[in-house]
Amino acid sequence: MANWLKRILGMEKCYICNNKAVKPRMYINDEGEKVPVCFKCVTYAERRAMKKSSY
Ligand SMILES: [Zn+2]
Repeated sequence: MANWLKRILGMEKCYICNNKAVKPRMYINDEGEKVPVCFKCVTYAERRAMKKSSY
């Protein structure tokens, strides 16, 4: 399924913990892709110095 479709349907999975991301923040991964990160893993993403992405 296309990423944009998942986003619309609210089926995004957290990039880090792989659980369903509730109200995720978008970050940029090593491949330069936008990835959702759930609020629980935001601190982890910050520690990994992942770039924040605007929606
Ligand atoms: Zn997570």
